[in-house]
Amino acid sequence: MNKTTILVVEDDIAVRNLITTTLETRDYRYIKAANGQSALLETSSHKPDIILLDLGLPDIDGIEVIKRIRTWSEVPIIVISARSEDTDKIDALDSGADDYLTKPFSVDELLARLRVTQRRLASMKSSDAEDSEFTNGELRIDYAAGSVFMNDEEIHLTPNEYKLLCLLAKNNGKVLTHTFITNNIWGSSFESDVASLRVFMATLRKKLDKSSKLEQQYIQTHVGVGYRMNKL
Ligand code: CA
Repeated sequence: MNKTTILVVEDDIAVRNLITTTLETRDYRYIKAANGQSALLETSSHKPDIILLDLGLPDIDGIEVIKRIRTWSEVPIIVISARSEDTDKIDALDSGADDYLTKPFSVDELLARLRVTQRRLASMKSSDAEDSEFTNGELRIDYAAGSVFMNDEEIHLTPNEYKLLCLLAKNNGKVLTHTFITNNIWGSSFESDVASLRVFMATLRKKLDKSSKLEQQYIQTHVGVGYRMNKL
């Protein structure tokens, strides 16, 4: 039995039915909301575990819904957007959304995003006590020593690569925008910072991929948006 409760916020009945039917087949519990006001109401009264949020709502814009929820709740929010523009995704992520899906999306894609978010929730709960070390697949970060290991072999990183890796690790499974990353690492977000970020990311990935025996990559690029560390 899947005990996770999902709040589905979507004004388009056909899309909402597609989502809830999908959730039903996987034994998810769900609550429905057709506009922003009822999304806020359902979030505070039912405390869902995950929110699937359409950005184009009839009353309050989805971005505004995220901002209001974030004033008091850390519940994971996966944005569903018909707008393919990167700026909407970036606005949503920078406002506090955790992930996004672009319409039209497949049922498999939706379920995959939910699984990623559930794993992130589970690891957040279990890693509260132990934050002197981070592990993900073959990757291990020893925060006290400032060292990084892949299959117990140490990888030598520059200070910027190390900061970048720690930031991605701290937000494992979550898409981080270029602005979020550069603000965290350099305290600013100029065009030149985003350009430097690409360079640091490229060398970091090369070092990780060279030592990894796994097929999947640790760091996933979201073109025009940012990066995510995959949970392996
Ligand atoms: Ca809509």
